[in-house]
Amino acid sequence: MNPITLPDSEFELKFWGRFVRSAVVLPNLELSCLEWSGARYGNGYGHASFAGRLIGTHVLAWVIMHRVWPGPGRVEVCHHCDNPPCGEPTHLFDGTRKENYEDSRSKGRHVLPPHIVGEQHPGAKLTESDVVVIRQLHANGAKQIDLASRFNCTQATISSITRGKAWASVDGVLTHHKVARVDIDGSEASIKDLALKYGIPYTALRKRLLKGWDLSRAITQPIKKGYRRCTSPI
Ligand SMILES: [Zn+2]
Repeated sequence: MNPITLPDSEFELKFWGRFVRSAVVLPNLELSCLEWSGARYGNGYGHASFAGRLIGTHVLAWVIMHRVWPGPGRVEVCHHCDNPPCGEPTHLFDGTRKENYEDSRSKGRHVLPPHIVGEQHPGAKLTESDVVVIRQLHANGAKQIDLASRFNCTQATISSITRGKAWASVDGVLTHHKVARVDIDGSEASIKDLALKYGIPYTALRKRLLKGWDLSRAITQPIKKGYRRCTSPI
């Protein structure tokens, strides 16, 4: 398959909206199938039009999750569930590893990729590749609440993953809170830089400056306990 542009978030939203969650969870799978409700090929695989061509919906689902098009003969998207119209990301895998997969399954030692459940242990069941995908989708504009629902974890977990507070050892695009900027003596300054410069807790300084306090008052008034000093990038 020739490299073509990647689906944008608008396409993605419509695309996921055309799947229907099956009520039946198959043995050895933690989530039920997500079945394509649109047009299908004769062999049962769903298809959708993207960038002027007809593409299997399981391939599109895989591409959206991994943010890359399979190279020629490199990746064949296969189903753990053997259900052709399924686009549930956790049921899809790279078919170049299929032989290993079948081999291990035939020997009874196949274990599916770890996944989900339990808000009591946020993040504990996510995999490193999930973390990369979560960061990329968030950088592409996906909402934290939607990602939390898709990956079955809390929004707080998604937030700390996207900021690199959780899973810091894993790569991926990090997104940070916008750091507010203020006008100081006619030039724009980042509150973060000011907090570092004057050793004032960032949140306290931000609150004061956004209230309209002048800088000298904001940095000299005693700070209430409970604010953390700004010692590292926000
Ligand atoms: Zn499935």
